[in-house]
This record gives sequence, structure tokens and C-alpha cells, in this order.
Amino acid sequence: MSLDVSRALKNPGQIFPFESSIELEEMEVLSDPVHFVDIAVQGEYLCTGENRISLKAEVQATADTRCSRCLEPVSIPVKAEMDVVFDRQPDPEDPDLYSFEASTLELTDAVRDALLLELPMRILCAEDCKGLCPVCGINLNKGTCTCQEGAEVLNPFSALKNIVLNDEEV
Ligand SMILES: [Zn+2]
Ligand SMILES: [Zn+2]
Repeated sequence: MSLDVSRALKNPGQIFPFESSIELEEMEVLSDPVHFVDIAVQGEYLCTGENRISLKAEVQATADTRCSRCLEPVSIPVKAEMDVVFDRQPDPEDPDLYSFEASTLELTDAVRDALLLELPMRILCAEDCKGLCPVCGINLNKGTCTCQEGAEVLNPFSALKNIVLNDEEV
């Protein structure tokens, strides 16, 4: 998405509001596919120097991805605050500056960076998602299997759990 900032460059210090929608390609985040859709950007910008534009905006989007445990599709809302500086001659030592040419800002990179920062590391379809059976791969939210039955009996903690539960009932 391009933003024409020629008026701001002619009027340093004056604040210009803007709002826009934007589209991002599907990407991979920690080997999970993530597609941000319905991206809305609303904010303001001003010229703070001959070659410099400061921009603040609120970004709202939906992230289409998959559950980290059961791998089923999940959509979650993501909200991000953008507070960035665009410079025509960015200092290569400063990674926080985005470059721009003439009087047009390309917001795509900055919006993607802001959304990725707010994306949770671990996305679940539900807090109590049971995930996939490590043996047969069945989705345990949808069905059951007998792979783990033997393991349950041998686990000393499950036996302990039963004792505690019995005590509570008394
Ligand atoms: Zn899940
Ligand atoms: Zn199984």
C-alpha cells in the first residue's frame, strides 16, 4: 500500500490523518502458515525533517493460521500499534528506519512487521485443545484411540491423582 505524503512534505509539522486497507501475502512464521486478512490501518503522519516522515497508526487484522497442537485452521484477531519513521536517506546503522522515495511511503513492510510482533507465539484453537495422538496422529478433539491406554496405567502420577480425588470425596 502506497501513501502519498507530498502535502506533509510541503507543510512540515502539520499532522495529516489517513486510513487505508492493505493486503499481505501469506507467509510462514515458525513453520506455520500465517495469512493476515481484513487489514485496516488508521493513523496520522507528519513531516519532521526535510527527508523524514513520522507515522503512527493502529492496525487491525485477522490472522488465518493453524492450531499449534491439532493443526486445524484457526482465525484470531490481531491488533498492533505502529510508531515508525520513514527517511529518504536512512542511516544503514539504524534498523528502525524505513526508507522512502520521492513523496510516497510504502507501508506494507512496516504493517507486516507490526502485526508479526503482536502475533502470539503459540496459537491454540481452544485452551483445552487435546492435540494429536503422537502415535497414530488422530485429532483427539474429534475422536479417541487406544494408543495411550497402557501408558496411563503405568504413569505413577495418574495413580496419585486418583488417591487425591478419593480423599476429596470423603
Ligand atoms: Zn487445536
Ligand atoms: Zn493414537
